[in-house]
Amino acid sequence: MPQLNLVLLGPPGSGKGTQGERLQEELRLPYYATGDILRAAVRNETELGKTAREYMDRGDLVPDQVIVGAIGERIDSVEAADGFILDGFPRNVPQAEALAAKLSELGRALTAVLLIDASDEEVMRRLGGRRTCVENGHVFHVEFDPPAKEGVCDIDGSELIVRDDDKPEVIRHRLETYHEKTEPLIEFYDHQSLLRRIDGAAAPDTVADELRRALATLKLEADEAI
Ligand SMILES: [Zn+2]
Repeated sequence: MPQLNLVLLGPPGSGKGTQGERLQEELRLPYYATGDILRAAVRNETELGKTAREYMDRGDLVPDQVIVGAIGERIDSVEAADGFILDGFPRNVPQAEALAAKLSELGRALTAVLLIDASDEEVMRRLGGRRTCVENGHVFHVEFDPPAKEGVCDIDGSELIVRDDDKPEVIRHRLETYHEKTEPLIEFYDHQSLLRRIDGAAAPDTVADELRRALATLKLEADEAI
């Protein structure tokens, strides 16, 4: 079977994480969220983990080369022999170039980049409507999953608040960063015919169906290429 080396792309609040977890189960491929990879490298005290830790301890950003190295360590392993799903990396064009170079070093290449797209309005609506219980972190949504009594957690009666991450100005800032740094990747990957666009505004089940369809097409193309 050909490898499925996948990158998930999309704005915050596009449902990318949820879809990634589903894909991981369906395809039985390892799912690499960048933050997790770095934390694991640090925990396992790999060479790259030690280097990453030095930056983290200083409060500095971990350089792309270190992150790419840590991802490379994971990709170059038995668990990722049939492919992988990468989420949260690359975030900009230089990182994408570094990733391509690393993969090429390992004799591999991306199969596809799955873009789960959502408009700024949709993102604001989804993330901005979240309400979190102060005591136990139960999450509700004013529109999609409202509590029985406004401002009160159904489960434990605690107060529901808007977390800092879900405040409009914070969401807007994350969207700006996405448009400025990450969106150029869409063109970058489209240019290489790797991009598959999926409408993230649809219901999660519909998005999952669309993803399945895109992957089925990819497999078909890969089989024909052999
Ligand atoms: Zn609660």
